[in-house]
Amino acid sequence: MTGRFGRAIPGVILGIAVLTAVLAASLQVPAVKGEMRCFVQRSFYPSYEPGPVADGTPIVQAQSETPPVRDKCDAADDPAIWVNTENPEKSLVLGTNKQRGLNVYTLDGQLLASHAVGKINNVDVRALPLANGGSRVFVGASNKGDSRLEMWELTPSNGALSNVLTTPINAKVERETYGFCLYLSPETQTLYAFATDKSGAVEQWALKDVADGRLKPVFKRQLRVQSQPEGCVADDENRRLFVGEEDVGIWVFDAEPDASTAGSLIARTGYGTLGGGVLTADVEGLALYAPPGEGPDAGFLIASSQGNATNAVFDRAPPYAFRGAFQIAFKANKTADTDGLDVTAVNLSGPYSRGLLVVQDGVNSAEDRSRANQNFKFTAWADIEDALGLVQTRRSE
Ligand code: CA
Ligand code: CA
Ligand code: CA
Ligand code: CA
Ligand code: CA
Repeated sequence: MTGRFGRAIPGVILGIAVLTAVLAASLQVPAVKGEMRCFVQRSFYPSYEPGPVADGTPIVQAQSETPPVRDKCDAADDPAIWVNTENPEKSLVLGTNKQRGLNVYTLDGQLLASHAVGKINNVDVRALPLANGGSRVFVGASNKGDSRLEMWELTPSNGALSNVLTTPINAKVERETYGFCLYLSPETQTLYAFATDKSGAVEQWALKDVADGRLKPVFKRQLRVQSQPEGCVADDENRRLFVGEEDVGIWVFDAEPDASTAGSLIARTGYGTLGGGVLTADVEGLALYAPPGEGPDAGFLIASSQGNATNAVFDRAPPYAFRGAFQIAFKANKTADTDGLDVTAVNLSGPYSRGLLVVQDGVNSAEDRSRANQNFKFTAWADIEDALGLVQTRRSE
């Protein structure tokens, strides 16, 4: 090629190359990545429209809420409550930000610490008693980013986390590591991690306490549901594992690693449809309300019914009777598109004398009703008991 046009071509190519390089580099900048992710979410996923709820479903007012998480769009996902048995009012709440890491909040909802540890989706906690008194607090989580399972020791005074694994847990991964929960066996005092995979696989890993205080992961077995699961919770005392299969319902398995891998479906989705259950897909977080000293049958299983933004309450023990559902609001802001939740029955003092429920709010707004990033809302269990008449139910039995 000749002439002015021909001479311009190298310049055009150079210009395109520079632009491409700038674009590629800017896509590596977290803020730009975040905007892109939000753009994709808003463009290709339908906006949330809550499904129908049963007439008379109570709306329970939350006591407080956390600040919005740092990232826009779908970011906050799942909480875990650590009960400080010596100073209940100094208990802590862990909350995931699946774009960035893990936050630690005080009971009044204030941010105590923020850890940029990756795409942490679900989180759980267990305190293991020490022979000489006291305990160690272990926090476990699923990292969606590289399908790893994390185990840290929590320093309650400042919310610090330190890795306690002898070797990283690379999940077996068939599609993407997703949900997570811990199980402390009453038989062997062994701590186990369960991780759900978007393929339907549920992996069980033993976390063996080794001499130097670290935990050594050992793969034990795989359970399975037929479609995408996420949330799970273990009932340690009863050796049960509950798994939410998002579109289908809640399964229960024996949590011991040498037990049968057969599960039973205890609650179904399809609320409002012919022959449907009490949940509206997706089934998200699961949590166990286990009142101390009341025996292994007392208490409830709580499930986040994302499709209609309700929290469904079932008996903790078979036949897992449905006790009712409720919604949560903080002032005028109702929770919606709800992901994970956690609950404790321990008296945490003040409004939480009957325990605390923490839920994620997927559609959050500020006081002036402008859109805010997602957050977590803290509700007194006493108010939930009142709204559903659960105390009366228990006393009459
Ligand atoms: Ca979500
Ligand atoms: Ca959790
Ligand atoms: Ca989900
Ligand atoms: Ca809301
Ligand atoms: Ca979730």
